Amino acid sequence: MKVRVDADLCIGCETCIDICPEIFEMNDNIAVTKKESVPADLQDSCREAEDACAVDAIIIEG
Ligand code: SF4
Repeated sequence: MKVRVDADLCIGCETCIDICPEIFEMNDNIAVTKKESVPADLQDSCREAEDACAVDAIIIEG
């Protein structure tokens, strides 16, 4: 499973960082991913962050 943040959509609300700080972090005013490939033990919280993102800026593939 891979994840990325669409920088054009992200509004910098930090919700994903609250839910899954192992994957997401802030870089200036937008979220970025610390790693592109999501380890198995973080996939549930990564999906939770995707669901919680109000602007659908989190893109999960695979
Ligand atoms: S939850 Fe969505 S809008 Fe908010 S910081 Fe994360 S990617 Fe950006």
